[in-house]
Amino acid sequence: MSNAVPPPESPRFRFAPSPTGFFHVGGARTALYNWALARHLGGRFVLRVEDTDEARNRPEWTQGILDALAWIGISPDDPTFEGPYFQSANAAEHVAAAERLYEAGLAYYCDLTGEQVQERAKASGTPGYDGYSRDRGLEPGPGRVLRFRVPDGAVIVNDAVRGRVEFDSANIEDFVLLRGNGTPMFLLANVVDDLSMRITHVVRAEEHLPNTPKQQLLWEALGARPPQWAHVPVLVNEQRKKLSKRRDKVALEQYRADGIVADAMVNYLMTLGWAPAGDTEIVPWERIQAEFRLEDVNHSPAFFDVKKLLAFNGEYLRMRSVDEFIAESDAWLPPEWDRATYAQVAELVQTRVPTLADVAPMVDFLFLDQPEIDEAAWTKAMKPEWARPLLIDVLDAFGQLAERGEWNAGVLKTTLEGIGTTYEVKPGKAQAGLRVAITGRSVGPPLYEPIELLGADESLRRIRAALERPEPS
Ligand code: GLU
Repeated sequence: MSNAVPPPESPRFRFAPSPTGFFHVGGARTALYNWALARHLGGRFVLRVEDTDEARNRPEWTQGILDALAWIGISPDDPTFEGPYFQSANAAEHVAAAERLYEAGLAYYCDLTGEQVQERAKASGTPGYDGYSRDRGLEPGPGRVLRFRVPDGAVIVNDAVRGRVEFDSANIEDFVLLRGNGTPMFLLANVVDDLSMRITHVVRAEEHLPNTPKQQLLWEALGARPPQWAHVPVLVNEQRKKLSKRRDKVALEQYRADGIVADAMVNYLMTLGWAPAGDTEIVPWERIQAEFRLEDVNHSPAFFDVKKLLAFNGEYLRMRSVDEFIAESDAWLPPEWDRATYAQVAELVQTRVPTLADVAPMVDFLFLDQPEIDEAAWTKAMKPEWARPLLIDVLDAFGQLAERGEWNAGVLKTTLEGIGTTYEVKPGKAQAGLRVAITGRSVGPPLYEPIELLGADESLRRIRAALERPEPS
């Protein structure tokens, strides 16, 4: 899947997920930001799977990442895409880089255990590692960790989103590069990979900002110019808490299974921290890709508003042609439902549903022998004292229409409205009982086309059956 390496002047972005078994919407947003930039600037989007943690090294999880990326339009078949690379495959390179730092005196070995480090910190009242072994000149040996010698002074991180961020190295401990068993730490592996993959832009989640001064020092210590950093804002829920898999629905796969369509999701994700110019946020990908700039990304937390996502999704569904909508919703319908019948009401549904998963419950009454009546809806519809006599009149009048062969939506509608007028009830209220009798529910698509489709016999049977229900007590 790897492609030929482009000339060095073209920007190289990367997306570096740690597999978790599901694809977080925040990861999707980060991937899309990188993708938009790489595509627009004629660069590369490098996928690197950060799988050094043994538990994460599962092929099906990598496949999950590729599937999720493909769904949001980031395809390995696109020439912008490069990889996937696997961090675990580069372990020797990570260790070699650490050893170079040691040889150059930029890192040193330390034999304190984690517990001892903590005890010393407690005794001195200063958190973190105190540089105990800096000048002890220890050789490598079993159980000894390799630590980076953090130089004095300030570390200035120039971040495309957050501007100039200054860190005082007095607050940065001599962090570990290689564990006591010789395996590389994440910070080191991440930098060495970015460096050897000639990454020019690191666009990633804000939670990595505290790592950035350490990583920048490593880039410099390894003799390279650090990349352009950009830390994109954290996603929060309605309570303004960071999205978490325990509290919130965060899996992209779940939104997909719940009937969100990819183009709506992509557009919505792009607006979490950024807005296209103009008065609507609903814009096609081509425009997003052309307009998106890191400099315009906001740095305050972005509210992942599920209601807004649903509104985007509804808008996108309404932009489809009816035929497209029919094709797209097909997989959400039970296979035994008659497609020709569905095709006749699809447009009525298309204008109303927020997601593809909402289609079936809106039309099921056309395909079921007897839809289940929602008790609460029926009780409510039948509550006014005029409701039952009105429905009896409707049954009678519809029966006459059937006999005269005038069973069509227009006549059914005016007949109902006429009866409503004699009871001095507005059409919406007048049809409430009829709707529950026919569909089982109090909400749904416009009623008369479906009643026409259902046919006189079945419709009249349902109205009769509903009227025979025992009176609510
Ligand atoms: N593997 C890290 C993560 O999934 C990403 C690190 C990075 O983007 O630099 O959080």
